[in-house]
Amino acid sequence: MAQLDKETFSTSGAPLSVEAAVALIAKRVPAIEETEKVDLLAAAGRVLAQPLIAPIDLPAFDNSAVDGYAARSRDLAIGSATELPIRGRIAAGHAPQTLSAENGALRIFTGAPVPEGFDRVFMQEDCTLADGNVLLPSDPSKGANIRRRGEDIAKGTEAIARGRRLMPEDIGLAAALGTTGITVRRELKVAIFSTGDEIVSPGVSLPPAAIYDANRFMLHAMLQRLGVRVHDLGILPDVRERTASALLEAAHAFDLVITSGGVSMGEEDHVKAVLETRGSLAFWKLAIKPGRSVAMGVLDGTPFIGLPGNPVAVFVCFATLVRPLIAALNGAQPEPLHRQKVIAGFSFRKKPGRREYLRVSLRRDSSGAIIAEKYAVQGSGALTSLTRTQGLLELHEDVTEIACGDRVDFIDYELMR
Ligand code: AMP
Ligand code: MG
Repeated sequence: MAQLDKETFSTSGAPLSVEAAVALIAKRVPAIEETEKVDLLAAAGRVLAQPLIAPIDLPAFDNSAVDGYAARSRDLAIGSATELPIRGRIAAGHAPQTLSAENGALRIFTGAPVPEGFDRVFMQEDCTLADGNVLLPSDPSKGANIRRRGEDIAKGTEAIARGRRLMPEDIGLAAALGTTGITVRRELKVAIFSTGDEIVSPGVSLPPAAIYDANRFMLHAMLQRLGVRVHDLGILPDVRERTASALLEAAHAFDLVITSGGVSMGEEDHVKAVLETRGSLAFWKLAIKPGRSVAMGVLDGTPFIGLPGNPVAVFVCFATLVRPLIAALNGAQPEPLHRQKVIAGFSFRKKPGRREYLRVSLRRDSSGAIIAEKYAVQGSGALTSLTRTQGLLELHEDVTEIACGDRVDFIDYELMR
């Protein structure tokens, strides 16, 4: 468990900007240093604990990138096509033949080793066959289909950097280098709770005035995609002591505790109060919409984040805060949200001093420009504003108004996972 002390964070009571909150997390949240060796197939989504150094060259030998004919420059006429006898055949997986010094070309297939001295491979589509001979084209640029030994990665150099969250393509690269086991940070153990007397789990019939728990299930799914071990600790009633004991117990047992709901100002909001009185509160107001009330701090040496109750706010705060928090605990390289410029297809006014995220869909206009259209229902409880759109439009703190046609930052949901 990360051992943070009570003084780890200390900020004033004013709403913190998203940037400042992320910087605070990066600066103050120590990584969990323990590592483990896992089978390559179990490593996807995990964070590499030591750089992976290539034990071999990749490719390991010069090989043909196409099906065609290999030749030596010295046997080729300059400026005209050359006809050469075909003196051998090399298929993928077979050692190159030893070749006589005479003139000649070799039939070669994709992935087959290119023999020493052969410096050209011509695609079969560019060649003509006649009587056991092949007519090779005159254009030298056509004879460049050789993948050189080590051109992808040279033996002894870094193939994958420490701190990278391993993507399927990294697993492919590690396998191509002959790796079987890989040293990663141990899995983070993350506890999640929902809070609120009105919240019930799906599976029971809905009592009057109750709602089904969306947040815990969404959080679970989002966390799983980040490669952490999720511990679902259920729903906490709006009772101070129950909240305090459950959160402290979780803080003792897990690397990170996440709750949703119960962080606003009402008398029924106990999460922030518990953090303040039994742990230490770093901030609880974030200059963000949807979001605003987010309590972050330390409980029993463990980082704690109390997300808002409204599901869309949970989603937005997860993308902006929880992802960097998990990256910090994992000792992972930060993965900043990828923004793309698009054109606003609507006008909008906002309050200055906070960052605002609108849920939008994209379309192309007749000139090919990408236009963002705002989803009609932008309430922070409206889950369809997430499920029926493609991403978030990010309006910065100083923006007060956008006009139709303005260039704005768009974040694709697909790129925030
Ligand atoms: P709170 O901050 O606890 O007052 O919650 C704000 C809003 O979010 C209220 O309308 C809650 O009913 C709703 N909410 C809280 N937790 C959940 C949850 N787990 N799933 C769906 N909605 C929730
Ligand atoms: Mg509540």
